[in-house]
Amino acid sequence: MNYIIAIGTNIKKEENLKLALRRLSERFTIVAASSVYESEPYGYQAQPNFYNMVVKIETDLLPEKVLDILQGIEAEAGRVRGGNRWGPRTLDLDIVLWSEGEVETPRVKIPHYDLKNRLFFILPILEIEGDIPVGGETLFHLARRLLPYQAIKKVEFELA
Ligand code: AMP
Repeated sequence: MNYIIAIGTNIKKEENLKLALRRLSERFTIVAASSVYESEPYGYQAQPNFYNMVVKIETDLLPEKVLDILQGIEAEAGRVRGGNRWGPRTLDLDIVLWSEGEVETPRVKIPHYDLKNRLFFILPILEIEGDIPVGGETLFHLARRLLPYQAIKKVEFELA
């Protein structure tokens, strides 16, 4: 089975992107990775810009097991070294799409509930998957509607 996983960070961006990719590749097979995009904060505005990307992974694990792994990676990235407390969230990992279709449990909803509103999910998915249909529309149509309102650009980023 395949999942599209979105990665977002706005604190120690390069470090956290690399950590996320390293950990994801330890637990899953990464079959495709988008470029890295820089986007303006969505929702609460008074915070740094984000780096966003998506990866396509292959695994036999069901959604809640995948979510457990993603939350473990988030926790590792959020940990304040040398302290006893957990720091602010520096890394967000979301399941956006699943090859098996839709699912909704108390812990996980796929497709991601806000996919249609987030250009920083849609553009990187378009890049690796093409213009696929999502809930009666295609990614290109969703993107065209959001482009006037959400600032986003590709950034050069050396992942190795
Ligand atoms: P957030 O803080 O926005 O990353 O939200 C995390 C919460 O969203 C967790 O409690 C998850 O159980 C829930 N959730 C529901 N659907 C998803 C999804 N598709 N991917 C990741 N988290 C999800």
